[in-house]
Amino acid sequence: MARYTGAVCRLCRREGQKLFLKGDRCYTDKCAIDRRAFAPGQHGNARNKKMSEYGMQLREKQKARRYYGVLESQFRKYFEMASQRKGVTGENLLSILETRLDNVVYRLGFAMSRAEARQLVRHGHFTVNGKKVDIPSYLVKPGETIALKGKTLDKIKASLEANGSRKAPKWLEFDANNLSANVAAMPAREDIDMPIEEHLIVELYSK
Ligand code: SF4
Repeated sequence: MARYTGAVCRLCRREGQKLFLKGDRCYTDKCAIDRRAFAPGQHGNARNKKMSEYGMQLREKQKARRYYGVLESQFRKYFEMASQRKGVTGENLLSILETRLDNVVYRLGFAMSRAEARQLVRHGHFTVNGKKVDIPSYLVKPGETIALKGKTLDKIKASLEANGSRKAPKWLEFDANNLSANVAAMPAREDIDMPIEEHLIVELYSK
C-alpha cells in the first residue's frame, strides 16, 4: 500500500506542532520543530499570515491524517464510515482511527512511533484473537485480544522500557506479563489525547 516516504519532520513543521513521527528523536533536542519552528519552504518563515476558514479546516484534516499516517483516500473512507455510525461524526472518526491495529500497537508502547508500529504489524509480530494479523489498517473491536507473537525483539523491549511511563489508554486493558491487551470498549473522545479539532474536519468534508 502507498504511503508517504518524504521527510517526516517537514510534516510537523507544516502543522506547526510535534506529531511524534520519528520515535525517540522526537523527545530530544534534535527535534526539528524545536530548532526551526516555522513551516518549510521559501515562505515558511513569513509572519502575520492570516489563515482562511478553509485553510484552518484543511490544516486540521492534514494534521489528523499525518498523526495516524493515513493517506487521503483511506482517510475519506474513514470519514464516510464515521458519518454512517450513530453519534457525533467527528468523534466517530477519531474513534475509528484510534482502533487501527498500528495505532493500538503504538498506544500499548510496543513501538516508539506509529510508523514503527506499522512496520512491526506488517512483519507479522502481532496476533488478534490468536491469529496473525499483518494489516496495519485492521480495525480492532471490543472483546478482541491483541498479543505479541513469538519472541520479543530487542527494539520492542527497548520501546516497552522507554514507554513504561506511558500508560495504555483505559479502553485497552494491557497485560504486561503476557504482553497482550484486551479491547475493553471503543475509545471515547476523552480517551483520545490528540489536539485535533475534529469539527473542522467534518466542516471541510461537508462542503
Ligand atoms: Fe516531528 Fe519528531 Fe521530527 Fe520533531 S523529531 S519534527 S516531533 S517527527
